[in-house]
Amino acid sequence: MSNDSLINKIIELAIEEDIATGDITTNALIPETSRAIAEMTMKADGIISGLDIAKKVFEYFDKEILWTSFVKEGDNVKKGDIILKVEGSYRCLLTAERTALNILQRMSGIATATALYVKELEGSNTKLLDTRKTAPGMRILDKMAVKAGGGTNHRMGLYDLALIKDNHIKVAGGISNAVKQVRTNISSGIRIEVEVTNLEEVKEALDSGADIIMLDNMSTAVMAKAVKMISGKAETEASGNMTISRIKEVAFTGVDYISVGALTHSVTALDISMNIKSYDIVKEINRLKKEKNAVILAHFYVRQEVQDIADYIGDSLGLSNAASKTEADIILFCGVNFMAETASIISPNKKVLVPDNTAGCSLAESIEGEDLIRWKEKNPDGVVVAYINTSAEVKAYSDYCCTSSNALKVVMSIPPEKKILFIPDKNLGNYIKLKTGRDLEIWDGDCCVHNQFDTKMILEKGMEYPHADILIHPESKCSNDPAIHNLPQAYFYSTSGMIKHVNSSHNRQFIIVTEAGVIHEMQKNNPGKEFIPIHIGAICRNMKKVTLEKVLHSLQTEQYEIKVPVELREKAWLPIKRMLEIK
Ligand code: SF4
Repeated sequence: MSNDSLINKIIELAIEEDIATGDITTNALIPETSRAIAEMTMKADGIISGLDIAKKVFEYFDKEILWTSFVKEGDNVKKGDIILKVEGSYRCLLTAERTALNILQRMSGIATATALYVKELEGSNTKLLDTRKTAPGMRILDKMAVKAGGGTNHRMGLYDLALIKDNHIKVAGGISNAVKQVRTNISSGIRIEVEVTNLEEVKEALDSGADIIMLDNMSTAVMAKAVKMISGKAETEASGNMTISRIKEVAFTGVDYISVGALTHSVTALDISMNIKSYDIVKEINRLKKEKNAVILAHFYVRQEVQDIADYIGDSLGLSNAASKTEADIILFCGVNFMAETASIISPNKKVLVPDNTAGCSLAESIEGEDLIRWKEKNPDGVVVAYINTSAEVKAYSDYCCTSSNALKVVMSIPPEKKILFIPDKNLGNYIKLKTGRDLEIWDGDCCVHNQFDTKMILEKGMEYPHADILIHPESKCSNDPAIHNLPQAYFYSTSGMIKHVNSSHNRQFIIVTEAGVIHEMQKNNPGKEFIPIHIGAICRNMKKVTLEKVLHSLQTEQYEIKVPVELREKAWLPIKRMLEIK
């Protein structure tokens, strides 16, 4: 089993024993939506260990926690130091606290003890080893902590090093026989260590070809003779009664390793405390927005709580327009990266921030600048129409941009004799082809969310809700299928087009064939109407990466800035400008 799987198993077990069916006190007292910040403070000096594991414990309850660590694994910390900050759901912080602290305190205790022993070995070449005397089931963590404290890991278990001890020797009838038999029966590459207690056994172990000789419970003087006798022909390990007051003199015998069971069997946890402060995150976001003259733009697909704090919610076209008109100094763009890039191209003098700079888009990533250059070389007379879901680099090589709101208009504005290269969405391209009769060359890209929505899915949902209007985004897989276009209740719209439709329709039921986040805006304006997402998987993971915590963090730190270099910006601006000019 890999180390990661082992660690996950330990965390699951620890949570299961502590929480089982739920944290009944926290759940009774803390509202599900409350947010909080927790700080961990050192109550003693020592070496910190277990940061990544503690983080995993919090993430078990809230994948979107914001974790800020002020120290690194193995750092020296002092009483009073704030070592980390974690922001997230109040319930998550309280429920995870004990398990996270238990792990952090135990691992830091081991690392701290290890560092004290290691200090005693300064000036010698001897390394400090751990043993198998670890807490049952927790060995991987105990050994990670030893490493953080400057120690070296001995074998992980009975499987990765053969250690022949007195009982093995008795059964085999002597050290030589034992080494011979083990050597015959284990895989090559695995080393053999032999435990010896006197100089006679040292000689036998050496003659039998042991890789490591463990000098067990010997006096320091005998040990010094043994090391001399071995003289580098095997590695040496001193073991048994290796107390901190003794290891310095043992190290000066010249042994390669000293193993100390006490590192992990007699652990004194390092005291660390966690303090929680609750706060009204929305109030804080609004305060910072005012203080920094920032505006928040959010796409219809982001989480509903993020939509609720936005100054403007819209689809790609609406957000591009909002970005071009704002008087704010900072545009905080809650969406995916290409959208923020577009805002930066449109408003080069504004600071454009995104709360999570890993929020990409499968569609935008389906074509790069190089791909487009090569495609244009093969089609030198082609006019490139780029869907807005493209990078700034790709836009720079394009002639026109379009969004799902204006794609038909943009294509129809191009003289009919011109060949059009449409990028990157094949479904939208085929939809335009069907609606305009234009002979487009279409790039083979798609959105991983909309490409799931095929004809079968639409027909089945339509049969389940025969009175519902079916509102379909043209990025959907079914959008060029005449069978769907022929359905009297099917309509094709951009997200803002869908919203207009439900606001003005007398119907009460709507099947929504796009990312389900848009339903929040529809429901807000039409509380009496019913909205049915086409599929449970109608979720864009990248859009959902934007959380309130990340929005706050972004306003606090002014991270992550999206800036398009001037030369690229000037080229990428032209196709956007042409799009905005088409009325
Ligand atoms: S829904 Fe599709 S097109 Fe929109 S951001 Fe997500 S992956 Fe990109």
